[in-house]
Amino acid sequence: MNRYPLTVLGLALLWVSCTERQPPTREPSKPGDTENTPTVMKTEKTDAEWKAQLSPEQYRVLRQAGTERPHGEAYKEFKHQGGGSYHCAGCGLLLFTSKEKFDSGCGWPSFFDPAKASNVVTREDFSLGGVRTEVLCAGCGGHLGHVFSGEGFDTPTDQRYCINGVALKFVPEEK
Ligand SMILES: [Zn+2]
Repeated sequence: MNRYPLTVLGLALLWVSCTERQPPTREPSKPGDTENTPTVMKTEKTDAEWKAQLSPEQYRVLRQAGTERPHGEAYKEFKHQGGGSYHCAGCGLLLFTSKEKFDSGCGWPSFFDPAKASNVVTREDFSLGGVRTEVLCAGCGGHLGHVFSGEGFDTPTDQRYCINGVALKFVPEEK
């Protein structure tokens, strides 16, 4: 009978493979997490690194899914910005351009489409009671805002990407 040593060896290998596996470093899932949760994260930083890089308001919005107050400073600047592109304030990924910008009157920067669909990801957000669709940066998983559709805006998509101004970095187009 030489089955016993083999079983011991098998158990030992199983133990090694289990203990060598690293625990997931991602934050625990929130109730609203779905299959659409960003899986390809080009920029991953620790909480401390984000805090050091971002302003307190940017950190609250991007990393803690906060919402800036409507008609705030960032929105006032947004309204006066000309042609250019809007990048993630966390990782610099191109998110929107002035071509998709429109005035929805809601008090936050509004776009009817992302510049590149693959650069934003969405997931259902069950906070505040109802279901909303949260918009996140595909590059760093930062919270950007929410997207609403079918509101009757006269735009090519009738979608409103309602985005926090502090989550965006504006890059004016070169003249
Ligand atoms: Zn980002």
